[in-house]
Amino acid sequence: MARSIENQKFIRIQAKIVHRFQAFNKSLKDKQNKYLVCPECAQIIRVPRNKGKIEVRCPSCRKSFDAKS
Ligand SMILES: [Zn+2]
Repeated sequence: MARSIENQKFIRIQAKIVHRFQAFNKSLKDKQNKYLVCPECAQIIRVPRNKGKIEVRCPSCRKSFDAKS
């Protein structure tokens, strides 16, 4: 039981790292948009660039967080 929770945590952390890397690569290629990773569920979220500080809402888990675009 405790072990499977640990394992889920590990998978989530790993997904976050992989998604952050993918988001960074996408951001480099896309001049109009920036790609962020949800701090809650690690979903990659596309946001428009150059909008200053914006509130982003994750389409997957509905968590909202502040980001610089
Ligand atoms: Zn999320």
